[in-house]
Amino acid sequence: MKQLHILTSPAEVHAAFAHARASGQTIGFVPTMGALHAGHIALVARARDENDVCIASIFVNPKQFAPTEDLATYPRTEDVDCAMLAAAGCDYVFMPTPEMLYPAGFATLVHVGGPSAGLESDFRPHFFDGVATVVAKLLCTVLPTRAYFGEKDYQQLCVIQHLVRDLALPIEVIGCPTVREADGLAMSSRNRYLSPNERKTATQIYAHMRHVAEKLRSGEMPQTVLPHATTTLENHGFTVDYFALRATDTLAEISTDIPITTPARLLVAARLGTTRLIDNIAI
Ligand code: AMP
Repeated sequence: MKQLHILTSPAEVHAAFAHARASGQTIGFVPTMGALHAGHIALVARARDENDVCIASIFVNPKQFAPTEDLATYPRTEDVDCAMLAAAGCDYVFMPTPEMLYPAGFATLVHVGGPSAGLESDFRPHFFDGVATVVAKLLCTVLPTRAYFGEKDYQQLCVIQHLVRDLALPIEVIGCPTVREADGLAMSSRNRYLSPNERKTATQIYAHMRHVAEKLRSGEMPQTVLPHATTTLENHGFTVDYFALRATDTLAEISTDIPITTPARLLVAARLGTTRLIDNIAI
């Protein structure tokens, strides 16, 4: 097993990569909030395979949680995470404290427009500014050749692609497919909040997305299919924040009164008890 080096400050990251950068080695980077699962490890495996050096970060970013959200209780499993990263062949993990990443006087907030509008922002208005701020800081600290993000958080992936393009950061953003449990539930650190009954019900999200996707692909009208899908999930006990259809790249709204003619994405956010689940699928 490779040795995993733990870095805790931006200065340590710079020092660790000075040699790799000077000698033209490629650096693959996977930012995470920890509580790692096979979805995260798939990103790490790809970063490891496609680059000379691989680094992950673990940072539960206070800026992307509202006061009412689960910052205090977000699962923290750093010892297990580090063992998983080492087993996956990751070279470095960057684990800063909030004070290290946001020292006293930190006064920058990064706002990305475009794909951040609607969907998650309608329910978590603070969220993407927090994500864009921390990802910008992490990318500028690590300066990787390639950064890997999951399609599981599809709107977030679009926002980060936009951020990197707008700021002309010399980094390739790579979107990776969603890793699912055997029954289809998208893996998520928050799945561990689900009770056994909720865990069974949670599979309905992917089942219904696939069902709706097939109907849309076969030419059914979004405006008839989507409200029905929402009602079906609600009948299973979900509170549905959105069950929406958007253009694949821009996440712009698309006509729902004609069959789909352009690449589209179906995106869902639904709550089961106190757990909020999100998922999406290509049409
Ligand atoms: P998180 O720790 O939840 O902030 O996620 C860190 C990264 O892992 C993000 O780019 C996520 O999109 C990605 N990710 C989380 N869950 C999955 C999954 N089931 N499949 C693929 N990528 C994932």
